[in-house]
Amino acid sequence: MNIVIFGPPGAGKGTQSKFIVNKFKLHQLSTGDLLRNEIKNKTKLGSEIYSIINSGELVSDQIVGNLIEKFVSNNDYKNKIIFDGYPRTLIQAKNLDDLLKKYKQKIDIVLKLSVSLETVKKRIFERQAIEKRTDDSEEIAIKRYKTYEKSSEPVIDYYKQSNLLKVVNGEAGIPEINSEISGLIDTIKG
Ligand code: AMP
Repeated sequence: MNIVIFGPPGAGKGTQSKFIVNKFKLHQLSTGDLLRNEIKNKTKLGSEIYSIINSGELVSDQIVGNLIEKFVSNNDYKNKIIFDGYPRTLIQAKNLDDLLKKYKQKIDIVLKLSVSLETVKKRIFERQAIEKRTDDSEEIAIKRYKTYEKSSEPVIDYYKQSNLLKVVNGEAGIPEINSEISGLIDTIKG
């Protein structure tokens, strides 16, 4: 089973991914984490993407596409991936379908966490104190939310058309969201 978890910054994608990883024995593929690792390890790619990430914009489809192929092609993760923060554009969604097809896999469910800008601001403010992410200032968080609003609609439509999309109320408490997501995943497991 492969899952896509989708939603604006601060929606709880990372938190819910970790819950799903534990409960359903999947592997989390967070493009945000992979990109932050590149920066932390001071790689050439890291220096190229640093300013993009800290402006709240998206990194190019090609860069993230290259990063995920390593993961998808790994037999240990076959049909056991939760895509956290990928895809974020229509091109990425189509690329992901092609890539999964190449490795004889598919997406089984897309979970969209819905939250308001007010909630995003509040959660990012709280996270900033703990994680110290350089892109978690209020100003950049708002920019990231706007970037999400701009690029997400075609992705949502794409998954609606393929009947994979399930919308989850991301405003609820963590245990409530956990159980809603579990129920949805159980239905597709049959
Ligand atoms: P995240 O940790 O998912 O909030 O991602 C942090 C930042 O990494 C985003 O604001 C983007 O700049 C970049 N990023 C993460 N995933 C993607 C993606 N799928 N496509 C483009 N940029 C991404």
